[in-house]
Amino acid sequence: MKLDSKTRSNHVILASHTNLKYKESLPINWGAQDPLERGPVVASLTNSKARNAIGTHSGSYAVYRALSIANGKFSPAHKPDLHNTQSPVPLGPYPQWFDPTKMVSIDPWGLDPQIHFKSLYDQGLDIRPSIAVTQAHLQIPEIQQAIDAGRLEIDGKIVTKNKDIKVTKVAIDPVWYLPGIANRLNVDEGDLRRILFQETGGMYAELITRRDLKTWLPPIGSTTVYIFGDALDLAKPEVELTCRVHDECNGSDVFGSDICTCRPYLMYGIEDAARTAQRNGVGLIAYYRKEGRALGEVTKFLVYNARKRQEGGDTAANYFRRTECVAGVEDARFQEFMPDILQFFGIQKIHNLHSMSNMKYEAIVKSGIEVVNRISIPDGLIPGDASVEMEAKKAAGYFHQDGALNKNELKNIKGRKIEE
Ligand SMILES: [Zn+2]
Repeated sequence: MKLDSKTRSNHVILASHTNLKYKESLPINWGAQDPLERGPVVASLTNSKARNAIGTHSGSYAVYRALSIANGKFSPAHKPDLHNTQSPVPLGPYPQWFDPTKMVSIDPWGLDPQIHFKSLYDQGLDIRPSIAVTQAHLQIPEIQQAIDAGRLEIDGKIVTKNKDIKVTKVAIDPVWYLPGIANRLNVDEGDLRRILFQETGGMYAELITRRDLKTWLPPIGSTTVYIFGDALDLAKPEVELTCRVHDECNGSDVFGSDICTCRPYLMYGIEDAARTAQRNGVGLIAYYRKEGRALGEVTKFLVYNARKRQEGGDTAANYFRRTECVAGVEDARFQEFMPDILQFFGIQKIHNLHSMSNMKYEAIVKSGIEVVNRISIPDGLIPGDASVEMEAKKAAGYFHQDGALNKNELKNIKGRKIEE
């Protein structure tokens, strides 16, 4: 063990100790209008007495940070220097930031806390951002093809002469307000805390022992948002907004695997978002780290095999059943929290929603955002082996302007077999 006296104490304080409420820790009044009245979420570990949240920053990467500290490469006393890290766009605050029910899975004041809580930050309180905004250029083969085909034009503003697309991108780490999470799921907060503790193998004892701590930074994936056009237009319902809410699919999104429609639908969304920005609208792609319907990639690959080896082959008729057999549930994404990301940007109206999922559509509408048009993936973009998924989803009620196939027709929609 290389930890030395410069680092934090090696003495382990169990969260089950009583009397852990310190006067240094500030209260959090979720939904309060003034940031200082709301209070910063303090989940850094450099001063345990100032902490007012369960868990810590960086989602699942907190484990890698711990490993860096364990091998002596990273000082646990390090405090980030946030000079020049602030957002290039003055996002918010929007009325949604002051409603304790609109956002329960992210902390809007986690954007530029060194500005919102400047007096506290200057006093040395280690307040860390859970949201960051920057700018980038995208170079994507499908988009360059769209430019070559004349579907997107080089305007120097959204699309550069090098065929790059200019974007503002936003990274958002999860910060859960537990009473709000329980309320959204319609469960008792105590039951929720107990089950979160038990089903993570007892990962966060404070879920049980510190009922006074209402915020938790769960060790799960973040969300990234790409904005095409002026990010401040997102909050203006009169400006046309094209939006895709996309759940991660590494196999298709990154590697081009043809068993599903994820990358083609994502690329179509990016193209349409850029086109909307070019006609003075705004585009937004939200990318949620919820691999394999939030069941993970191992489960996903097992399901692929189970589908492809089943008697009668991989058919649209049996698509959902195989997932449930392996995983125990068809889908674990909880779209109830997905619209929080849209609320953060002050969105009130989506003119063109690129999603066929009824769960996503209903969650967005239920959150108070109006949806005008729903856009399904054009048939010509569906890869060879993905028709099984597409037809099964349509038959299960996913939105498509042409409707769905009947039961017998679904049996004839088959995918490739495993080559053994
Ligand atoms: Zn996929």
